[in-house]
Amino acid sequence: MKRVSRRLGAIKPSATMAITTKAKSMRADGVDVIGFAAGEPDFPSPAHVVTAAVEAVQDVRNHKYSAAAGLPELREAVAAATEEYSGVPGTGDNVVITNGGKQAVFNALAAVVDDGDEVLLPSPFWVTYPEAIALAGGTPVEVETSIETGFKTTPDQLEALRTPSTTALVFTSPSNPTGAVYTREEVEAIGRWAAEEDIWVITDEIYDRLVYGDARFASLPGVVPEMRDRSIIVNGVAKTYAMTGWRVGWMVGPPDVIKAAGSLMSHSTSNVANVTQRAALAAITGPQDVVEDRRRIFDRRRQSMVDYLRSMSGVTCLDPEGAFYAFPDMRGALGREYSGRPAETTLDLAAIALEQAHVAFVPGEAFGAPGFARFSYALADADLEEGMQRLGGLLA
Ligand code: PMP
Repeated sequence: MKRVSRRLGAIKPSATMAITTKAKSMRADGVDVIGFAAGEPDFPSPAHVVTAAVEAVQDVRNHKYSAAAGLPELREAVAAATEEYSGVPGTGDNVVITNGGKQAVFNALAAVVDDGDEVLLPSPFWVTYPEAIALAGGTPVEVETSIETGFKTTPDQLEALRTPSTTALVFTSPSNPTGAVYTREEVEAIGRWAAEEDIWVITDEIYDRLVYGDARFASLPGVVPEMRDRSIIVNGVAKTYAMTGWRVGWMVGPPDVIKAAGSLMSHSTSNVANVTQRAALAAITGPQDVVEDRRRIFDRRRQSMVDYLRSMSGVTCLDPEGAFYAFPDMRGALGREYSGRPAETTLDLAAIALEQAHVAFVPGEAFGAPGFARFSYALADADLEEGMQRLGGLLA
């Protein structure tokens, strides 16, 4: 008898989750593991957000079903925030509140991809995209970028891979895993190409508020107005407000797509928990200084991590300009043995680092970039230092 369907059977478990789970189980066994693998801020959620959630629990209105597409107040607040930070005007009718940015990615792809459609996906990419594209019936078409181009793609490269079946481009800036941030001009060039070729852009802006140095965030439909009718913005409270566990994200797009995604929500999850929607509302409409304070802390850690990585034998690292990841080239550390264990790939090296140095990071294989590795700097300064020293010792 057939058991797991072909569609679900083809899904690969998230490699980032796998390494974090292994690190957690080692920790539970009493091993002092330093985790560079998780993609979440180490800070608690802001105090006023927690207070709003406590009040919301006590309000009986929040004990009942609410609109599948989200609380009207939150949809309006998200529309206002999207205008402020992405430069895309709209109303609550352009917004669906989702169970994290992750569900927004799934909904967005489900809304525009048909069986057999091709979706351009610049690599290295966030692990969820290829699976979400395939689940929507599409085929991910990898657009390979390199450390030499700062892990960025161009209209020429996209055009070379475009076919009559190309329906959409998944665009992520700032990027997970590379930390690359496209300049306004680069975003504009890609947006103009997409407008000319009539291609949807799913623009994942979840790290929009976390950029460093001279880098500035630019939203594709923000800088190319003719793309507003063919773009879906994905965002959420997880990274900006250290609210990963609350599970509130959203998609912003043209009304037909938003209506379709709302119907999908109504038959799949229904509304996101009211209490967490109220908490997200407090985060978006409350004081924003907490975002800047934390961004500065990330920036300090970023510089410290890059300095450490660059000092290690066999490691080359670009300056990540956004999000909270460094994405070093580890190829110079491969092809040798560590205490008798050969490391031919970054998968081997990640396993060796976890076992021998008790340091967890995600091998580049997870993001379509073997030879590289993702290190999150969203962890306490003392842990960051200790972990980097252990890794430096291992690679010496
Ligand atoms: N997009 C990107 C690029 C991410 O890195 C993440 C989290 N790892 C998400 C979306 C989804 O975040 P969440 O579902 O927690 O809101």
